[in-house]
Amino acid sequence: MSSAAVFDQIAFADIKVIALSRHGGLSNAPYNSLNLADYVGDEPEAVRGNLAIVSRLAGAGGISVMSADHGNKVNVVTSMGTAPSGDGLVTKESNLALLALAADCVGFALADSDSGVIAVGHAGWRGVLSNVMQEVVQVFVSNGGKLSQTSAVIGPAICASCYEVPSERVAQFLAQCPAAVSDETHLDLRAGVHSSLAAHIDIAQIYDLPGCTQESEKLFSYRKANGQPTGRGGLLIVRASS
Ligand SMILES: [Zn+2]
Repeated sequence: MSSAAVFDQIAFADIKVIALSRHGGLSNAPYNSLNLADYVGDEPEAVRGNLAIVSRLAGAGGISVMSADHGNKVNVVTSMGTAPSGDGLVTKESNLALLALAADCVGFALADSDSGVIAVGHAGWRGVLSNVMQEVVQVFVSNGGKLSQTSAVIGPAICASCYEVPSERVAQFLAQCPAAVSDETHLDLRAGVHSSLAAHIDIAQIYDLPGCTQESEKLFSYRKANGQPTGRGGLLIVRASS
């Protein structure tokens, strides 16, 4: 599965997790080219085509696409298309890919290849503060996921040195999620996600797909776009049918 659309990937038995790049798609500038979001001003036809490219690439029958709203609501899904609003998706279905859209925020995934339950989540600074990771873990478990046999994956996101924030926000994190604090004016959202997941999952089973969205020309970044429209990439998980 070598493709310009794949930034990085990892597999656990019949489950694969793919961090998508911004390349290998159909969208014109400034969404060039693998924009997967239908809410950023891109041509709907290009977005549909890009989702079809990604679905084929993943070997999936269809994709359930997250409608993130920077909260901690988690939805259980059984069919393709735009999911109800929320920042986590869980499914027991095979061949149904789950996609968390992001451009600087952290996508993360949970995979239990024994039970077949998979999940994906999205965490920006609000999501990390509201611990969307814990909500995703809870719904994953209540749908049959067993944490002792679960692997977690943390996707590319804006890195700590690129993610400068007001000092008041750092103070908020010092009180509520100190693991995400890098220094007085920078947050490490991936470290915050890692810390929350490590409360539930053996750290030997937590995998990083590294990469900074702002620094890599292969990834969409909201900050890099500097107020101009840009696309969304993301993290995808799918379990093949046996
Ligand atoms: Zn960076």
